[in-house]
Amino acid sequence: MRNRLARILHHTIRRQLTTTTAATSHSTTAAAAALNMAQTQAPPKEITIIGGGIIGCTAAYYLTRHPSYSPSTHRITLLEASSTSSGGRTADSITDPATLADPDPASKQHSSAAAAAPRNPAHDGIAGGASGKAGGLGALWAFPKNIVRLSFRLHEELAREHGGETRWGYRRCHAGQVECRARVPGANNKNKNGNGNEGSTVETEEEDEEKAGGTSAGSCKGLHKDHKKDTKALSALGGPSDLDWLDAQDALLGYEGMGSPEDTAQVHPELFTRSMAQLAEDDGVRIITGARVTSINFSADKGDEKNVESVTYVRDGESEEQHTLPTTDCIVAAGPWTPRLLPQIPVTSSRAHSIVVRPPRPLSAYALFTSITLPRGFPQPGTGPLTRHATTVEPEIYARPDGTAYACGPTDQDEPLPATSTAEVRVDEARCDDIATQIAGISEELDGTGQGQAEVLARQACYLPQGGPFIGPVPHMKGVIVAAGHTCWGIQNAPATGKLVSEIVLDGEARSARLGACDPARVVR
Ligand SMILES: Cc1cc2nc3c(=O)[nH]c(=O)nc-3n(C[C@H](O)[C@H](O)[C@H](O)COP(=O)(O)OP(=O)(O)OC[C@H]3O[C@@H](n4cnc5c(N)ncnc54)[C@H](O)[C@@H]3O)c2cc1C
Repeated sequence: MRNRLARILHHTIRRQLTTTTAATSHSTTAAAAALNMAQTQAPPKEITIIGGGIIGCTAAYYLTRHPSYSPSTHRITLLEASSTSSGGRTADSITDPATLADPDPASKQHSSAAAAAPRNPAHDGIAGGASGKAGGLGALWAFPKNIVRLSFRLHEELAREHGGETRWGYRRCHAGQVECRARVPGANNKNKNGNGNEGSTVETEEEDEEKAGGTSAGSCKGLHKDHKKDTKALSALGGPSDLDWLDAQDALLGYEGMGSPEDTAQVHPELFTRSMAQLAEDDGVRIITGARVTSINFSADKGDEKNVESVTYVRDGESEEQHTLPTTDCIVAAGPWTPRLLPQIPVTSSRAHSIVVRPPRPLSAYALFTSITLPRGFPQPGTGPLTRHATTVEPEIYARPDGTAYACGPTDQDEPLPATSTAEVRVDEARCDDIATQIAGISEELDGTGQGQAEVLARQACYLPQGGPFIGPVPHMKGVIVAAGHTCWGIQNAPATGKLVSEIVLDGEARSARLGACDPARVVR
Protein backbone atom coordinates (compact mmCIF):
# COMPACT_ATOMS: atom_id res chain seq x y z
CA MET A 1 0.00 0.00 0.00
CA ARG A 2 2.79 2.36 1.00
CA ASN A 3 4.66 1.44 -2.14
CA ARG A 4 1.62 2.13 -4.22
CA LEU A 5 1.25 5.54 -2.61
CA ALA A 6 4.90 6.25 -3.26
CA ARG A 7 4.53 5.24 -6.91
CA ILE A 8 1.50 7.45 -7.43
CA LEU A 9 3.26 10.38 -5.81
CA HIS A 10 6.40 9.72 -7.80
CA HIS A 11 4.45 9.87 -11.05
CA THR A 12 2.64 12.97 -9.86
CA ILE A 13 5.95 14.66 -9.20
CA ARG A 14 7.38 13.65 -12.55
CA ARG A 15 4.31 14.97 -14.31
CA GLN A 16 4.46 18.19 -12.35
CA LEU A 17 8.16 18.69 -12.89
CA THR A 18 7.87 18.20 -16.64
CA THR A 19 4.76 20.34 -17.10
CA THR A 20 5.53 23.99 -17.46
CA THR A 21 1.92 25.13 -17.42
CA ALA A 22 -0.22 24.41 -14.39
CA ALA A 23 2.20 23.11 -11.80
CA THR A 24 2.89 25.39 -8.90
CA SER A 25 6.08 25.10 -6.94
CA HIS A 26 4.00 24.69 -3.79
CA SER A 27 2.20 21.53 -4.93
CA THR A 28 5.48 20.07 -6.25
CA THR A 29 7.16 20.62 -2.93
CA ALA A 30 4.23 19.09 -1.07
CA ALA A 31 4.20 16.03 -3.31
CA ALA A 32 7.97 15.63 -2.98
CA ALA A 33 7.70 15.82 0.79
CA ALA A 34 4.95 13.19 0.76
CA LEU A 35 7.07 10.94 -1.46
CA ASN A 36 10.03 11.31 0.88
CA MET A 37 7.80 10.39 3.77
CA ALA A 38 6.49 7.31 1.97
CA GLN A 39 10.04 6.25 1.11
CA THR A 40 11.46 6.83 4.53
CA GLN A 41 8.64 4.77 5.98
CA ALA A 42 9.38 1.86 3.60
CA PRO A 43 11.35 -0.72 5.54
CA PRO A 44 14.97 -0.61 4.40
CA LYS A 45 15.98 -3.54 2.26
CA GLU A 46 19.36 -5.17 1.90
CA ILE A 47 19.09 -6.59 -1.61
CA THR A 48 21.80 -8.95 -2.85
CA ILE A 49 21.95 -10.02 -6.49
CA ILE A 50 24.03 -13.11 -7.24
CA GLY A 51 25.38 -13.13 -10.80
CA GLY A 52 26.53 -10.40 -13.17
CA GLY A 53 25.04 -11.81 -16.36
CA ILE A 54 22.29 -10.06 -18.27
CA ILE A 55 19.61 -11.24 -15.84
CA GLY A 56 21.38 -10.01 -12.70
CA CYS A 57 22.30 -6.70 -14.33
CA THR A 58 18.82 -5.93 -15.70
CA ALA A 59 17.37 -6.82 -12.28
CA ALA A 60 19.78 -4.32 -10.72
CA TYR A 61 18.82 -1.69 -13.29
CA TYR A 62 15.06 -2.08 -12.83
CA LEU A 63 15.35 -2.09 -9.04
CA THR A 64 16.95 1.36 -9.27
CA ARG A 65 14.13 2.52 -11.58
CA HIS A 66 11.37 1.31 -9.31
CA PRO A 67 9.29 4.22 -7.94
CA SER A 68 9.82 3.20 -4.32
CA TYR A 69 13.57 2.70 -4.64
CA SER A 70 15.75 5.17 -2.87
CA PRO A 71 19.51 4.68 -2.50
CA SER A 72 19.31 6.27 0.93
CA THR A 73 16.78 3.68 2.10
CA HIS A 74 17.66 0.48 0.26
CA ARG A 75 21.06 -1.07 -0.32
CA ILE A 76 21.59 -3.15 -3.46
CA THR A 77 24.76 -5.19 -4.00
CA LEU A 78 25.53 -7.26 -7.09
CA LEU A 79 28.11 -10.01 -6.62
CA GLU A 80 29.77 -11.49 -9.71
CA ALA A 81 32.13 -14.43 -9.29
CA SER A 82 34.46 -13.60 -12.17
CA SER A 83 36.68 -10.55 -12.53
CA THR A 84 37.98 -11.10 -16.05
CA SER A 85 36.72 -10.57 -19.59
CA SER A 86 38.99 -13.20 -21.04
CA GLY A 87 37.30 -16.28 -19.55
CA GLY A 88 35.88 -18.51 -22.28
CA ARG A 89 37.94 -16.81 -25.00
CA THR A 90 41.15 -17.81 -26.73
CA ALA A 91 44.20 -15.71 -25.92
CA ASP A 92 44.16 -14.03 -29.35
CA SER A 93 40.51 -12.98 -29.10
CA ILE A 94 39.46 -9.38 -28.64
CA THR A 95 38.08 -8.86 -25.17
CA ASP A 96 36.71 -5.37 -25.60
CA PRO A 97 33.82 -5.21 -28.05
CA ALA A 98 33.38 -1.53 -27.26
CA THR A 99 36.36 -0.85 -29.49
CA LEU A 100 34.31 -2.18 -32.39
CA ALA A 101 30.93 -0.70 -31.64
CA ASP A 102 30.08 1.75 -34.33
CA PRO A 103 26.60 2.36 -35.66
CA ASP A 104 27.93 3.60 -38.97
CA PRO A 105 30.98 1.49 -39.72
CA ALA A 106 31.02 2.39 -43.41
CA SER A 107 31.73 6.00 -42.61
CA LYS A 108 34.50 5.16 -40.17
CA GLN A 109 36.01 2.37 -42.27
CA HIS A 110 36.37 0.05 -39.30
CA SER A 111 38.24 2.55 -37.20
CA SER A 112 38.68 1.41 -33.65
CA ALA A 113 37.12 4.61 -32.32
CA ALA A 114 34.62 3.56 -29.69
CA ALA A 115 31.15 4.91 -30.19
CA ALA A 116 29.99 3.07 -27.10
CA ALA A 117 30.68 4.27 -23.58
CA PRO A 118 34.28 3.56 -22.60
CA ARG A 119 34.85 0.21 -20.96
CA ASN A 120 34.81 0.26 -17.17
CA PRO A 121 37.63 -2.10 -16.14
CA ALA A 122 36.11 -2.43 -12.66
CA HIS A 123 33.25 -4.29 -14.35
CA ASP A 124 35.39 -6.93 -16.04
CA GLY A 125 33.72 -10.21 -15.22
CA ILE A 126 30.26 -8.76 -15.91
CA ALA A 127 28.77 -10.56 -18.95
CA GLY A 128 31.64 -13.05 -18.91
CA GLY A 129 29.34 -15.98 -19.71
CA ALA A 130 26.50 -16.54 -22.18
CA SER A 131 25.39 -12.94 -21.66
CA GLY A 132 28.53 -11.73 -23.40
CA LYS A 133 28.80 -14.50 -25.97
CA ALA A 134 25.24 -14.82 -27.26
CA GLY A 135 23.92 -13.74 -30.63
CA GLY A 136 21.77 -10.98 -29.19
CA LEU A 137 18.55 -11.55 -31.11
CA GLY A 138 15.20 -10.41 -29.76
CA ALA A 139 11.85 -11.20 -31.33
CA LEU A 140 8.14 -11.10 -30.74
CA TRP A 141 8.10 -14.69 -31.98
CA ALA A 142 10.34 -15.83 -29.10
CA PHE A 143 9.10 -17.68 -26.00
CA PRO A 144 7.73 -17.88 -23.32
CA LYS A 145 4.81 -15.82 -24.53
CA ASN A 146 3.86 -14.34 -21.14
CA ILE A 147 7.01 -12.17 -21.03
CA VAL A 148 8.10 -11.82 -24.65
CA ARG A 149 5.95 -8.85 -25.65
CA LEU A 150 6.83 -6.89 -22.51
CA SER A 151 10.53 -7.59 -22.92
CA PHE A 152 10.62 -6.68 -26.61
CA ARG A 153 8.97 -3.35 -25.79
CA LEU A 154 11.32 -2.70 -22.85
CA HIS A 155 14.35 -3.32 -25.10
CA GLU A 156 13.05 -0.64 -27.41
CA GLU A 157 12.36 1.77 -24.54
CA LEU A 158 15.79 1.19 -23.01
CA ALA A 159 17.45 1.84 -26.36
CA ARG A 160 15.49 5.06 -26.80
CA GLU A 161 16.17 6.29 -23.28
CA HIS A 162 19.87 5.49 -23.11
CA GLY A 163 21.06 5.76 -26.71
CA GLY A 164 21.14 2.01 -27.18
CA GLU A 165 21.76 2.21 -30.93
CA THR A 166 25.16 3.69 -30.25
CA ARG A 167 25.80 2.29 -26.83
CA TRP A 168 24.91 -1.37 -27.34
CA GLY A 169 24.14 -1.81 -31.03
CA TYR A 170 20.35 -1.97 -30.78
CA ARG A 171 18.64 -2.16 -34.14
CA ARG A 172 15.65 -3.75 -35.82
CA CYS A 173 16.61 -6.52 -38.24
CA HIS A 174 15.42 -9.36 -40.44
CA ALA A 175 15.61 -13.05 -39.60
CA GLY A 176 15.45 -15.93 -42.02
CA GLN A 177 16.16 -19.59 -42.51
CA VAL A 178 18.54 -20.45 -45.31
CA GLU A 179 19.25 -23.80 -46.82
CA CYS A 180 22.70 -23.98 -48.37
CA ARG A 181 25.24 -26.29 -49.92
CA ALA A 182 28.77 -25.34 -48.91
CA ARG A 183 31.55 -24.85 -51.43
CA VAL A 184 34.70 -26.79 -50.67
CA PRO A 185 37.19 -23.99 -50.00
CA GLY A 186 39.90 -23.81 -52.63
CA ALA A 187 38.30 -26.42 -54.94
CA ASN A 188 37.01 -25.76 -58.46
CA ASN A 189 33.43 -25.64 -57.27
CA LYS A 190 30.50 -26.40 -59.43
CA ASN A 191 27.61 -24.22 -58.54
CA LYS A 192 24.39 -25.86 -57.51
CA ASN A 193 23.22 -25.91 -61.14
CA GLY A 194 26.31 -27.88 -62.04
CA ASN A 195 28.04 -24.97 -63.78
CA GLY A 196 31.55 -24.20 -62.69
CA ASN A 197 32.02 -20.48 -62.26
CA GLU A 198 35.76 -20.46 -61.85
CA GLY A 199 37.56 -18.96 -64.79
CA SER A 200 34.33 -17.58 -66.17
CA THR A 201 34.86 -15.06 -68.91
CA VAL A 202 31.51 -13.44 -68.24
CA GLU A 203 32.15 -10.07 -66.72
CA THR A 204 29.67 -8.46 -64.40
CA GLU A 205 28.84 -4.77 -64.35
CA GLU A 206 30.80 -4.53 -61.10
CA GLU A 207 33.92 -5.97 -62.71
CA ASP A 208 33.55 -3.49 -65.54
CA GLU A 209 33.22 -0.73 -62.98
CA GLU A 210 36.25 -1.95 -61.06
CA LYS A 211 38.36 -1.88 -64.20
CA ALA A 212 37.11 1.60 -64.81
CA GLY A 213 38.48 2.63 -61.44
CA GLY A 214 35.82 2.02 -58.79
CA THR A 215 32.16 1.54 -58.16
CA SER A 216 29.34 3.97 -58.11
CA ALA A 217 27.77 2.63 -54.92
CA GLY A 218 30.40 3.02 -52.25
CA SER A 219 33.88 1.75 -51.63
CA CYS A 220 33.02 -1.78 -50.47
CA LYS A 221 30.45 -2.98 -52.93
CA GLY A 222 32.87 -4.25 -55.56
CA LEU A 223 34.43 -6.59 -53.00
CA HIS A 224 31.50 -8.92 -53.37
CA LYS A 225 32.22 -10.98 -56.44
CA ASP A 226 29.43 -11.68 -58.90
CA HIS A 227 27.13 -9.55 -56.81
CA LYS A 228 24.58 -9.22 -59.63
CA LYS A 229 24.51 -12.96 -60.26
CA ASP A 230 24.01 -13.63 -56.57
CA THR A 231 21.18 -11.13 -56.35
CA LYS A 232 19.43 -12.79 -59.29
CA ALA A 233 19.91 -16.23 -57.78
CA LEU A 234 18.56 -15.00 -54.47
CA SER A 235 15.45 -13.43 -55.93
CA ALA A 236 14.82 -16.59 -57.95
CA LEU A 237 14.69 -18.35 -54.57
CA GLY A 238 12.33 -15.76 -53.15
CA GLY A 239 15.10 -14.28 -51.02
CA PRO A 240 15.49 -10.57 -50.23
CA SER A 241 17.75 -8.64 -52.59
CA ASP A 242 19.71 -6.94 -49.82
CA LEU A 243 20.89 -10.24 -48.37
CA ASP A 244 23.89 -9.83 -50.64
CA TRP A 245 26.61 -11.31 -48.47
CA LEU A 246 25.79 -14.97 -49.06
CA ASP A 247 27.20 -16.64 -52.15
CA ALA A 248 23.67 -17.03 -53.41
CA GLN A 249 24.52 -18.42 -56.81
CA ASP A 250 26.91 -21.10 -55.60
CA ALA A 251 25.69 -21.96 -52.16
CA LEU A 252 22.08 -20.96 -51.55
CA LEU A 253 19.30 -23.48 -52.08
CA GLY A 254 16.40 -21.81 -50.32
CA TYR A 255 15.33 -18.86 -48.17
CA GLU A 256 12.38 -18.49 -45.86
CA GLY A 257 11.67 -15.33 -43.90
CA MET A 258 11.12 -15.72 -40.15
CA GLY A 259 11.08 -12.18 -38.89
CA SER A 260 11.14 -8.60 -40.11
CA PRO A 261 12.08 -5.28 -38.48
CA GLU A 262 8.46 -5.13 -37.30
CA ASP A 263 8.98 -8.00 -34.90
CA THR A 264 12.73 -8.67 -34.71
CA ALA A 265 15.62 -6.74 -33.16
CA GLN A 266 19.15 -7.25 -31.94
CA VAL A 267 21.60 -5.94 -29.39
CA HIS A 268 25.27 -6.55 -28.72
CA PRO A 269 24.70 -8.63 -25.58
CA GLU A 270 27.97 -7.86 -23.82
CA LEU A 271 27.65 -4.12 -24.38
CA PHE A 272 24.00 -4.20 -23.34
CA THR A 273 24.73 -6.12 -20.13
CA ARG A 274 27.66 -3.91 -19.17
CA SER A 275 25.57 -0.83 -19.86
CA MET A 276 22.82 -2.11 -17.57
CA ALA A 277 25.44 -2.68 -14.87
CA GLN A 278 26.85 0.81 -15.33
CA LEU A 279 23.44 2.49 -15.26
CA ALA A 280 22.53 0.56 -12.12
CA GLU A 281 25.80 1.51 -10.46
CA ASP A 282 25.29 5.15 -11.40
CA ASP A 283 22.04 4.97 -9.41
CA GLY A 284 23.52 3.48 -6.28
CA VAL A 285 24.05 -0.26 -6.86
CA ARG A 286 27.33 -1.57 -5.46
CA ILE A 287 28.95 -3.97 -7.93
CA ILE A 288 31.62 -6.34 -6.68
CA THR A 289 33.35 -8.56 -9.24
CA GLY A 290 35.57 -11.47 -8.28
CA ALA A 291 33.07 -12.22 -5.47
CA ARG A 292 31.74 -15.77 -5.55
CA VAL A 293 28.80 -16.59 -3.31
CA THR A 294 29.35 -19.86 -1.47
CA SER A 295 26.13 -19.99 0.54
CA ILE A 296 22.80 -18.32 1.17
CA ASN A 297 22.15 -18.29 4.90
CA PHE A 298 18.82 -18.45 6.70
CA SER A 299 17.49 -17.73 10.15
CA ALA A 300 16.16 -20.68 12.09
CA ASP A 301 13.33 -22.53 10.34
CA LYS A 302 9.81 -21.40 11.15
CA GLY A 303 7.61 -24.32 10.24
CA ASP A 304 8.35 -25.21 6.66
CA GLU A 305 9.53 -21.67 5.78
CA LYS A 306 12.93 -20.13 6.46
CA ASN A 307 13.96 -16.48 6.13
CA VAL A 308 17.04 -15.35 4.25
CA GLU A 309 19.47 -13.58 6.55
CA SER A 310 22.77 -13.18 4.69
CA VAL A 311 24.98 -14.49 1.92
CA THR A 312 28.57 -15.62 2.27
CA TYR A 313 31.09 -14.96 -0.48
CA VAL A 314 34.80 -15.33 -1.15
CA ARG A 315 36.95 -12.87 -3.12
CA ASP A 316 39.32 -13.66 -5.97
CA GLY A 317 42.90 -13.72 -4.76
CA GLU A 318 42.02 -13.94 -1.06
CA SER A 319 42.81 -17.36 0.36
CA GLU A 320 39.92 -18.65 2.44
CA GLU A 321 38.60 -15.44 3.94
CA GLN A 322 34.81 -15.39 3.91
CA HIS A 323 32.68 -12.27 3.73
CA THR A 324 29.13 -12.07 5.01
CA LEU A 325 26.59 -9.70 3.56
CA PRO A 326 23.38 -9.10 5.53
CA THR A 327 20.50 -9.72 3.13
CA THR A 328 16.75 -9.29 3.32
CA ASP A 329 16.14 -10.09 -0.36
CA CYS A 330 18.40 -12.39 -2.35
CA ILE A 331 18.06 -12.59 -6.14
CA VAL A 332 19.75 -15.66 -7.54
CA ALA A 333 20.66 -14.94 -11.17
CA ALA A 334 23.63 -17.26 -11.48
CA GLY A 335 22.59 -18.65 -14.88
CA PRO A 336 23.72 -22.25 -15.30
CA TRP A 337 25.38 -22.16 -11.87
CA THR A 338 22.06 -21.53 -10.13
CA PRO A 339 21.50 -25.13 -8.91
CA ARG A 340 24.85 -24.95 -7.07
CA LEU A 341 23.12 -22.49 -4.71
CA LEU A 342 19.53 -23.67 -5.16
CA PRO A 343 19.59 -27.40 -5.97
CA GLN A 344 15.80 -27.50 -6.16
CA ILE A 345 15.77 -25.26 -9.27
CA PRO A 346 16.20 -27.59 -12.27
CA VAL A 347 18.45 -25.45 -14.49
CA THR A 348 20.74 -27.51 -16.72
CA SER A 349 23.43 -26.37 -19.14
CA SER A 350 25.34 -27.16 -22.32
CA ARG A 351 28.52 -25.64 -23.68
CA ALA A 352 28.29 -23.69 -26.95
CA HIS A 353 31.03 -22.22 -29.15
CA SER A 354 30.91 -19.11 -31.25
CA ILE A 355 33.13 -16.83 -33.27
CA VAL A 356 33.11 -13.15 -34.22
CA VAL A 357 34.42 -12.24 -37.67
CA ARG A 358 35.07 -8.93 -39.36
CA PRO A 359 34.05 -9.03 -43.02
CA PRO A 360 35.46 -6.54 -45.53
CA ARG A 361 32.35 -4.35 -45.43
CA PRO A 362 29.30 -3.83 -43.20
CA LEU A 363 26.64 -6.46 -43.79
CA SER A 364 22.91 -5.91 -44.16
CA ALA A 365 20.87 -6.55 -41.01
CA TYR A 366 20.02 -10.25 -41.09
CA ALA A 367 20.07 -13.03 -38.52
CA LEU A 368 20.25 -16.31 -40.39
CA PHE A 369 19.37 -19.76 -39.11
CA THR A 370 21.24 -21.93 -41.56
CA SER A 371 21.06 -25.51 -42.66
CA ILE A 372 24.26 -26.17 -44.60
CA THR A 373 25.07 -29.38 -46.40
CA LEU A 374 28.80 -29.99 -46.28
CA PRO A 375 29.89 -32.07 -49.27
CA ARG A 376 32.25 -35.02 -49.08
CA GLY A 377 35.81 -33.76 -48.74
CA PHE A 378 34.77 -30.62 -46.89
CA PRO A 379 37.53 -29.73 -44.41
CA GLN A 380 36.50 -29.69 -40.77
CA PRO A 381 39.55 -28.66 -38.74
CA GLY A 382 37.94 -29.89 -35.52
CA THR A 383 36.40 -33.18 -36.52
CA GLY A 384 38.55 -33.86 -39.62
CA PRO A 385 37.58 -33.75 -43.32
CA LEU A 386 34.35 -35.44 -44.34
CA THR A 387 35.86 -38.39 -46.16
CA ARG A 388 32.82 -40.63 -46.43
CA HIS A 389 29.61 -38.71 -46.89
CA ALA A 390 28.00 -35.33 -46.72
CA THR A 391 26.58 -33.98 -43.49
CA THR A 392 24.39 -31.07 -42.45
CA VAL A 393 25.37 -28.38 -39.96
CA GLU A 394 23.31 -25.47 -38.63
CA PRO A 395 25.38 -22.50 -37.51
CA GLU A 396 23.48 -19.29 -36.81
CA ILE A 397 24.91 -16.12 -38.33
CA TYR A 398 24.08 -12.62 -37.10
CA ALA A 399 25.28 -9.51 -38.94
CA ARG A 400 25.95 -6.75 -36.41
CA PRO A 401 25.84 -2.98 -36.76
CA ASP A 402 29.43 -2.66 -35.54
CA GLY A 403 30.59 -4.12 -38.85
CA THR A 404 31.19 -7.61 -37.46
CA ALA A 405 29.29 -10.86 -37.82
CA TYR A 406 28.71 -13.43 -35.10
CA ALA A 407 28.27 -17.17 -35.70
CA CYS A 408 27.55 -19.94 -33.22
CA GLY A 409 27.64 -23.70 -33.52
CA PRO A 410 25.88 -26.59 -31.78
CA THR A 411 25.93 -27.29 -28.06
CA ASP A 412 28.03 -30.09 -26.56
CA GLN A 413 28.42 -31.93 -23.27
CA ASP A 414 32.17 -32.61 -23.60
CA GLU A 415 33.17 -30.30 -20.75
CA PRO A 416 31.07 -30.08 -17.58
CA LEU A 417 30.16 -26.68 -16.17
CA PRO A 418 33.26 -25.31 -14.38
CA ALA A 419 33.19 -25.32 -10.60
CA THR A 420 33.32 -21.61 -9.97
CA SER A 421 32.57 -19.13 -12.75
CA THR A 422 32.85 -18.00 -16.35
CA ALA A 423 36.57 -17.35 -15.82
CA GLU A 424 37.22 -21.10 -16.00
CA VAL A 425 35.31 -21.88 -19.20
CA ARG A 426 37.50 -23.76 -21.66
CA VAL A 427 37.41 -23.16 -25.40
CA ASP A 428 37.87 -25.98 -27.89
CA GLU A 429 39.53 -23.99 -30.69
CA ALA A 430 38.85 -26.74 -33.20
CA ARG A 431 35.10 -26.31 -32.71
CA CYS A 432 35.49 -22.60 -33.45
CA ASP A 433 37.53 -23.41 -36.55
CA ASP A 434 34.75 -25.72 -37.72
CA ILE A 435 32.24 -22.86 -37.46
CA ALA A 436 34.63 -20.58 -39.35
CA THR A 437 35.03 -23.12 -42.17
CA GLN A 438 31.30 -23.80 -42.40
CA ILE A 439 30.32 -20.16 -42.81
CA ALA A 440 33.25 -19.64 -45.20
CA GLY A 441 31.67 -22.37 -47.34
CA ILE A 442 28.62 -20.21 -48.01
CA SER A 443 30.06 -16.70 -48.00
CA GLU A 444 33.40 -15.44 -49.23
CA GLU A 445 32.85 -12.31 -47.20
CA LEU A 446 32.59 -14.33 -44.00
CA ASP A 447 35.62 -16.44 -44.86
CA GLY A 448 38.04 -15.98 -41.99
CA THR A 449 39.99 -19.17 -42.69
CA GLY A 450 42.90 -17.26 -44.17
CA GLN A 451 41.76 -17.87 -47.75
CA GLY A 452 38.95 -15.32 -47.78
CA GLN A 453 38.09 -11.73 -47.03
CA ALA A 454 37.23 -11.85 -43.32
CA GLU A 455 39.24 -11.86 -40.13
CA VAL A 456 38.32 -13.92 -37.07
CA LEU A 457 38.29 -11.57 -34.07
CA ALA A 458 37.14 -13.91 -31.32
CA ARG A 459 36.87 -17.63 -30.62
CA GLN A 460 34.79 -18.27 -27.55
CA ALA A 461 32.66 -20.66 -25.52
CA CYS A 462 30.02 -20.34 -22.82
CA TYR A 463 27.27 -22.33 -21.13
CA LEU A 464 23.68 -22.07 -22.26
CA PRO A 465 21.33 -22.20 -19.26
CA GLN A 466 18.38 -24.48 -19.95
CA GLY A 467 15.21 -25.72 -18.34
CA GLY A 468 13.44 -22.44 -17.54
CA PRO A 469 13.10 -19.58 -17.36
CA PHE A 470 12.33 -19.64 -13.65
CA ILE A 471 11.34 -16.22 -12.34
CA GLY A 472 9.86 -15.64 -8.91
CA PRO A 473 9.98 -16.36 -5.19
CA VAL A 474 11.48 -19.70 -4.24
CA PRO A 475 8.94 -21.65 -2.16
CA HIS A 476 9.83 -22.16 1.51
CA MET A 477 12.69 -19.62 1.33
CA LYS A 478 11.30 -16.22 2.29
CA GLY A 479 13.27 -13.45 0.63
CA VAL A 480 14.86 -15.64 -2.06
CA ILE A 481 13.92 -14.94 -5.66
CA VAL A 482 15.29 -16.90 -8.58
CA ALA A 483 15.73 -15.57 -12.12
CA ALA A 484 17.56 -18.19 -14.16
CA GLY A 485 17.43 -20.88 -16.84
CA HIS A 486 16.52 -18.55 -19.69
CA THR A 487 17.46 -20.94 -22.54
CA CYS A 488 18.24 -19.42 -25.94
CA TRP A 489 16.07 -16.33 -25.30
CA GLY A 490 17.75 -14.83 -22.23
CA ILE A 491 18.89 -11.70 -24.06
CA GLN A 492 15.43 -11.11 -25.46
CA ASN A 493 13.72 -11.77 -22.11
CA ALA A 494 16.13 -10.06 -19.73
CA PRO A 495 14.38 -6.67 -19.45
CA ALA A 496 11.02 -8.24 -18.60
CA THR A 497 12.72 -10.55 -16.12
CA GLY A 498 14.53 -7.64 -14.46
CA LYS A 499 11.35 -5.60 -14.25
CA LEU A 500 9.33 -8.46 -12.77
CA VAL A 501 12.05 -9.17 -10.22
CA SER A 502 12.07 -5.50 -9.17
CA GLU A 503 8.29 -5.63 -8.67
CA ILE A 504 8.44 -8.86 -6.68
CA VAL A 505 11.06 -7.35 -4.37
CA LEU A 506 9.61 -3.85 -3.95
CA ASP A 507 5.86 -4.37 -4.56
CA GLY A 508 5.59 -7.90 -3.22
CA GLU A 509 4.26 -9.27 -6.51
CA ALA A 510 4.86 -9.32 -10.28
CA ARG A 511 2.69 -6.65 -11.86
CA SER A 512 3.76 -6.08 -15.45
CA ALA A 513 3.18 -9.65 -16.62
CA ARG A 514 1.98 -13.00 -15.36
CA LEU A 515 4.70 -15.33 -14.12
CA GLY A 516 2.73 -18.23 -15.58
CA ALA A 517 4.88 -21.26 -16.29
CA CYS A 518 7.99 -19.33 -15.16
CA ASP A 519 6.83 -19.42 -11.52
CA PRO A 520 9.24 -21.63 -9.54
CA ALA A 521 6.28 -22.75 -7.42
CA ARG A 522 5.36 -24.94 -10.39
CA VAL A 523 8.46 -27.07 -9.91
CA VAL A 524 9.27 -26.68 -6.21
CA ARG A 525 6.68 -28.18 -3.90
C1 LIG B 1 25.61 -19.56 -28.31
C2 LIG B 1 24.48 -18.83 -27.66
C3 LIG B 1 23.73 -17.91 -28.39
C4 LIG B 1 22.64 -17.26 -27.80
N1 LIG B 1 21.93 -16.35 -28.53
C5 LIG B 1 20.89 -15.71 -27.96
C6 LIG B 1 20.14 -14.76 -28.70
O1 LIG B 1 20.43 -14.48 -29.86
N2 LIG B 1 19.07 -14.18 -28.10
C7 LIG B 1 18.71 -14.46 -26.82
O2 LIG B 1 17.72 -13.92 -26.35
N3 LIG B 1 19.44 -15.34 -26.08
C8 LIG B 1 20.50 -15.97 -26.61
N4 LIG B 1 21.22 -16.87 -25.88
C9 LIG B 1 20.82 -17.15 -24.49
C10 LIG B 1 21.38 -16.13 -23.51
O3 LIG B 1 22.73 -15.92 -23.78
C11 LIG B 1 21.22 -16.64 -22.08
O4 LIG B 1 19.90 -17.07 -21.84
C12 LIG B 1 21.52 -15.52 -21.08
O5 LIG B 1 22.76 -14.93 -21.38
C13 LIG B 1 21.55 -16.05 -19.66
O6 LIG B 1 21.92 -15.00 -18.81
P1 LIG B 1 22.17 -15.23 -17.26
O7 LIG B 1 22.46 -13.91 -16.67
O8 LIG B 1 21.05 -16.03 -16.70
O9 LIG B 1 23.42 -16.22 -17.20
P2 LIG B 1 24.98 -15.97 -17.42
O10 LIG B 1 25.24 -15.06 -18.54
O11 LIG B 1 25.62 -17.31 -17.44
O12 LIG B 1 25.41 -15.19 -16.11
C14 LIG B 1 25.45 -15.81 -14.85
C15 LIG B 1 26.56 -15.14 -14.06
O13 LIG B 1 26.52 -15.61 -12.73
C16 LIG B 1 27.84 -15.71 -12.25
N5 LIG B 1 27.85 -16.63 -11.11
C17 LIG B 1 27.64 -17.96 -11.14
N6 LIG B 1 27.72 -18.47 -9.89
C18 LIG B 1 27.98 -17.42 -9.06
C19 LIG B 1 28.18 -17.31 -7.66
N7 LIG B 1 28.12 -18.37 -6.85
N8 LIG B 1 28.45 -16.09 -7.14
C20 LIG B 1 28.51 -14.98 -7.94
N9 LIG B 1 28.33 -15.05 -9.29
C21 LIG B 1 28.06 -16.25 -9.84
C22 LIG B 1 28.61 -16.24 -13.45
O14 LIG B 1 30.00 -16.00 -13.31
C23 LIG B 1 27.95 -15.47 -14.58
O15 LIG B 1 28.63 -14.27 -14.86
C24 LIG B 1 22.31 -17.53 -26.45
C25 LIG B 1 23.08 -18.43 -25.71
C26 LIG B 1 24.15 -19.08 -26.30
C27 LIG B 1 24.96 -20.04 -25.49
